[in-house]
Amino acid sequence: MSANIRIVLVNTTHPGNIGGVARAMKNMALGELHLVAPKKFPHVNADARAAGATDLLESAVIHDTLEEAIADCQIVVGTSARGRHIPWPVVDPRELAAIVQPIATDKKIAIVFGREDRGLTNEELHLCQYHVHIPSNPDFSSLNLAAAVQVVTYELRMASIYAQENEQHKPQWGTDWDIELADSSDLERLFKHLEETLVDIDFLDPENPRQLMPRLRRLYLRAMPDKVEVNVLRGILTATQKNSNAKD
Ligand code: SAH
Repeated sequence: MSANIRIVLVNTTHPGNIGGVARAMKNMALGELHLVAPKKFPHVNADARAAGATDLLESAVIHDTLEEAIADCQIVVGTSARGRHIPWPVVDPRELAAIVQPIATDKKIAIVFGREDRGLTNEELHLCQYHVHIPSNPDFSSLNLAAAVQVVTYELRMASIYAQENEQHKPQWGTDWDIELADSSDLERLFKHLEETLVDIDFLDPENPRQLMPRLRRLYLRAMPDKVEVNVLRGILTATQKNSNAKD
């Protein structure tokens, strides 16, 4: 399961934390580390904190944007130390592991961690199907980045160990799906197309968008559409645009 699970760190400030994350991951038998625009990397402090896990630092994939880091993933999970403005499906690390474990054999999964000082932005969290919150002390909720990665990856490992013992391989939705799930890049193209169409038909006012797009994102992400479903939705949008242009 582990090769399909990637840990994505966004804009990490302290290279020591990147090393700490590499070590935490290797302890839990995960190897795919992706970094979005790290402030300082490679760095001696990263190597020092990684201890025997410098191989993960050497093979880490560096991206300019989060969109690029998750483009080929079907499941994207954001982590957050606090609740956000509009509610999003939220799970604790154990619940996440129960969701991820059965599907990690054939789906690519990204678990995204934020900046040390201010976490992930709302826009970044709106790229995700689920948010994970470690139920920490509400008066002191923010864990060190590497500690947060350790807690989440420990639960993934426990779920994998139990599944091996019980040999439970129940597929997602209880049956083998006929079509591959859409990945993040398919979904981002859909959301762009949807937004353009809603502007064309005067449903969305670009001057006053309110929370319309985040709410629609949340709806579609909850449905986890497959590739054919996304194509059908985009076909409907194209027909809508043609129709509305014809009437202009
Ligand atoms: N002040 C920031 C905290 C950043 S901590 C905020 O309010 O969001 C750095 C990162 O560690 C977070 O972006 C998240 O990825 C992870 N993290 C820390 N505490 C967490 C918690 N209780 N639950 C889930 N992730 C957490």
